[in-house]
Amino acid sequence: MANPKHRHSRARRDKRRANWKFEAPNLSICPECKEPKLPHRVCLSCGSYNGKKIIEIIEKAAV
Ligand SMILES: [Zn+2]
Repeated sequence: MANPKHRHSRARRDKRRANWKFEAPNLSICPECKEPKLPHRVCLSCGSYNGKKIIEIIEKAAV
């Protein structure tokens, strides 16, 4: 089975992990309501996708 032949040093491991950065998710603008939404997902504020209404958005009651 494929196994690592040699153990990597702590420095090598930590250098690899240092490249990980937190990134903000990509956002696209909904063509229906002009709100930011995730690409390839139904808009969460108006419930439309590809110009069609997919889901009904129930107005959240202020608690
Ligand atoms: Zn929308």
